[in-house]
Amino acid sequence: MTLTEPTASPGVELDDVTVAFGDVTALDDVSIAVDEGEFFTLVGPSGCGKTTTLRTVAGFETPATGEIYIDGERVTDLAPERRDVGVVFQHYALFPHMSVRENVAYGLRFRDPPGDVSTRERVDELLALVDMGGMGEREPTQLSGGQQQRIALARALAPGPDVLLLDEPLSALDARLRERLRVTIRTIQQELGITTIYVTHDQSEALAISDRVAVVDDGTIEQIATPETVYRNPGSRFVAEFVGENNLLDGEVRSTTPPRASVNGVAIALPETMSATAGESVTLCVRPEAIAISERNEAFGGETMLTATVENSEFLGDAYRVHCSWNDHSLLVKTDGHDPPTGTVRLRIDAADIHLFAGAAD
Ligand code: ATP
Repeated sequence: MTLTEPTASPGVELDDVTVAFGDVTALDDVSIAVDEGEFFTLVGPSGCGKTTTLRTVAGFETPATGEIYIDGERVTDLAPERRDVGVVFQHYALFPHMSVRENVAYGLRFRDPPGDVSTRERVDELLALVDMGGMGEREPTQLSGGQQQRIALARALAPGPDVLLLDEPLSALDARLRERLRVTIRTIQQELGITTIYVTHDQSEALAISDRVAVVDDGTIEQIATPETVYRNPGSRFVAEFVGENNLLDGEVRSTTPPRASVNGVAIALPETMSATAGESVTLCVRPEAIAISERNEAFGGETMLTATVENSEFLGDAYRVHCSWNDHSLLVKTDGHDPPTGTVRLRIDAADIHLFAGAAD
């Protein structure tokens, strides 16, 4: 008998889901299993199918093929109001003629409050949860954007749904407020332990708040993993480029031990564990922060030293973004030195920091 690790029960499952609008295939055979209580984020460029995924889980779109399950129950044909989900959209969609209290209570139009409490008590609970206690009698027009989005969140949570769906809830807010409110959302999600699917095109937001991230491109899933894995071990070239910044170099694997690739005639040390064979075309990916501006000239085992010219530097406060030219390539380097580097520099790349993908960069 073999013992297997217990797997978390799926809170939401999309099983081979395809959604089309006329000739446009918005989702192409997508399968996702979101664990119960997990904060799961869909991230990808505009038009890749994030909102369609969320709307399909909510019941606003019907898949052409495939099934949707919520808490193990098949809901593919169930009307949105019969699914146990709360939804928050990008634009708060609060009713301007209703008070804050009435807006939150509107979330209870299909259901009684959970637990043995009155609607009034439930609304008070929720206002306190989103830190808006005492603001119940105001009208939405008297609230800031961030406050309005807190009310939209309270309204979505009012019936005590099993699943919370958030579609770009912060994108209409300014950067500082976005950062504050994302912490609030994450804290509330953890407090309630509610299964959450969050949509954003902002990869740094996705990395900051999620248990796991799905990177979506053109209606398909490129990678599903923890934020750390998506960043450190991108599953595809698309992920390597979309999540964070990356330098991409075309190379050809040489028949050397230890392994090296030739990039414009220069040998670059590759990770020992790489699986490409001699003669193969590869793309080398290296993060800007993995390239060091070095004092020394000599490369030790598993390192490559390149001589580059600094074109310009941007001061970021805690670091410099340094644009270098090397051998007809642009290389982006991130360095936390006190002064911006200038002129000719030696760049050191550790082979272990290089990711390889088959084929040349586009
Ligand atoms: P964004 O970040 O811009 O909101 P998204 O990743 O959420 O984009 P979707 O809105 O899911 O992308 O759209 C996926 C694809 O489906 C796009 O090509 C879009 O034009 C198309 N699409 C979405 N809704 C409809 C619709 N109601 N009718 C026709 N095409 C649609």
